[in-house]
Amino acid sequence: MRQSFDYLPVAGAPVPQAGERVRVPFGRQRAIGIVAAQAESSAWPRARLKSVTQAIDTTPLWDAATFGVLRWAADYYHHPLGDVLFGALPKMLRDGAAASRELVVWRLADAGRAAIAAGARLGSRQQALVALLGADGATQPALAAAGHSAAVRALAKRGWIESFARSAPPPPAGAGRPGPVLTADQVQAVAAVGDSLGRFGAFLLHGVTGSGKTEVYLRLIERVLAAGRGALVLVPEIALTPQLVARFRERLSAPVVALHSSLADGARLDAWRAASAGCAPVVIGTRSAVFTPMPALGLVVVDEEHDASYKQQEGFRYSGRDLALMRAQRAGVPAVLGSATPSFESLANAAAGRYVRLSLPERTGRAGKPGVTVIDLRVNAARDGISPPAMAAIERHLADRGQVLVFLNRRGYAPTMFCSGCGWVAPCKSCDARLTVHLSRARLVCHHCGADEALPFACPQCGNELAPVGEGTERVETTLKQLFPREPLVRVDRDVIRRRGDMEEALGAVADGRARILLGTQMLTKGHDFPDVTLVVVLAADQGLFGADFRASERLAQQIVQVAGRAGRGDRPGEVLIQTSYPEHPLLKCLITRGYEGFAELALVERRAAGWPPYAHLALLRADAPARADVYQFLEAAAAAAPATRRDRIRILGPAPAALARRAGRHRAQLLVESPARGALQAFLAHWVDALAALKPSRQLRWSLDVDPAEVD
Ligand code: ADP
Ligand code: ZN
Ligand code: ZN
Repeated sequence: MRQSFDYLPVAGAPVPQAGERVRVPFGRQRAIGIVAAQAESSAWPRARLKSVTQAIDTTPLWDAATFGVLRWAADYYHHPLGDVLFGALPKMLRDGAAASRELVVWRLADAGRAAIAAGARLGSRQQALVALLGADGATQPALAAAGHSAAVRALAKRGWIESFARSAPPPPAGAGRPGPVLTADQVQAVAAVGDSLGRFGAFLLHGVTGSGKTEVYLRLIERVLAAGRGALVLVPEIALTPQLVARFRERLSAPVVALHSSLADGARLDAWRAASAGCAPVVIGTRSAVFTPMPALGLVVVDEEHDASYKQQEGFRYSGRDLALMRAQRAGVPAVLGSATPSFESLANAAAGRYVRLSLPERTGRAGKPGVTVIDLRVNAARDGISPPAMAAIERHLADRGQVLVFLNRRGYAPTMFCSGCGWVAPCKSCDARLTVHLSRARLVCHHCGADEALPFACPQCGNELAPVGEGTERVETTLKQLFPREPLVRVDRDVIRRRGDMEEALGAVADGRARILLGTQMLTKGHDFPDVTLVVVLAADQGLFGADFRASERLAQQIVQVAGRAGRGDRPGEVLIQTSYPEHPLLKCLITRGYEGFAELALVERRAAGWPPYAHLALLRADAPARADVYQFLEAAAAAAPATRRDRIRILGPAPAALARRAGRHRAQLLVESPARGALQAFLAHWVDALAALKPSRQLRWSLDVDPAEVD
């Protein structure tokens, strides 16, 4: 709901402050609410206002700066404040668990013990409570959960049981081992950010993979800790980089907590409480950790700031990176954005002087930059995905006892099942998409809606034999195993890395040399060290060259540079091979001859000419429904409802079908709103959202507004 609701405080009790939770009657139900603000008056007559039933918190859940960021985010993304606030909390806090680390513990009092010894008569519920309390007592939430609240009140009234407060034990401290002597570039970076401690400043730390960015973060955090403050470190995916948290714990002496989605609810609550109480001054977390309250924040770090996972793609569609900057600004502390392949937005911000640019151009190891060679697939036809020159290179590197990394950003056996008789291609019944062949499971699977079906034996149209066409990682694994039967291979993609621990297992096999060939999707491009990898083969660079989305080429360049950066981190120089059918594509050529920065320069010129971000500001109104007409009717009504008084410098494009025009049985289309000025766009959206909320679309239609969308396909 976009509106807030007025309540009276509990009579005689202190008025709850903004950011505290309260229990309230809501319609015929009861609900937990978060106080948005205190008001002196209401549009409703006093007699119609209901009272808060119970205050849950005694202090606000967030510090003032973080609460300010949440309010700002609700405004900026035009998303309901209630959803923003509740979404920022661990599940157990949404459900009413205590936010404080102070636990109320009940135990038997002397009077109670004496009375029981003297044979006092207890009801059966009271007996059960006394048994539960035992010698150690029990916490209030545990007792409430077990249904003992009434018995607790009765025995407490008689003075037979008593309560005391006990703090949860703090998270363990780190080992505090010293780091290496910094290089001159690292010293410069640490000094630049260090000089800004205590006030806001944005820094773009551009350093190739292995150039020592993490070491720079660690040094800065040490300084922040020494000043009695804490650091918030955002990373794209913790599950994929378990060694990162371990490294922080090893190097820092203060407690470090991790916050991410694969934590169990209780563990997540504990980590949140420790951070909010200041017991864990270093928080490492994924996107949503940006909302963690930290009382003495001193530094914000966003590692791999270009990573797409910082953008939430459903519900409240915020950018964790952008909110991290806002958070640093509100807290008056520096923000460091680190990457080997900075986003074009950040490069443009640095060029415009909004970010201070810091560079770590050299790797810390002895090995130089890897040599990059392009293999023209039109001349060197690939067999099952691998061209003869790539095959020869793999053989050579394996013979030299190097490890080989093969990158293909497509899982499954083959992307299509094809009939050479009539041209039939196996389609998904509920999406405008083809089914992917998963041969090991003998299934056809839709990567968009998850539908799967048995592999057909023959073409349903003409009865001819069917063949899988194209390559996914599963097929390339088969090929590599045939070509190099003696060389142990590890495959890393979402089909084989499913449980916690799978990734550690795979990385372990690579680290200790059990695996010689490493094959995988972009899961491999995320921050891992593969020091003995001497050869990287990019099997299909073409996917990103012709993508519909304006960011497709940026993502392609980032993937290639990131995966190439995995090679030769040890003392051996690396070699990178890129297979493509378009070796003369200007962007690819530029990437290879001029590197990532040259590529970005060229691509930014194109973006400026085309009026794309960062030179324009976008919002996307998406809609989907089972009936196509409903979708277009809604979007046309939405376009017509655009507030005429705010149309200055606003362009509305569409309705146009989404790149995947039907998914899971729902038709999808969108309106793109574009403006050269962020302020104009914001003013427009604020009015437009109200108009949208007043539209009455078909009941099955869903719509969402995405400000600064990551993809516009
Ligand atoms: P990045 O975060 O840029 O990938 P890291 O900070 O992880 O780089 O550094 C890469 C490797 O080099 C790590 O093993 C790290 O311990 C090591 N390293 C970093 N800085 C130095 C230094 N100044 N001297 C020696 N080794 C270093
Ligand atoms: Zn056929
Ligand atoms: Zn599907």
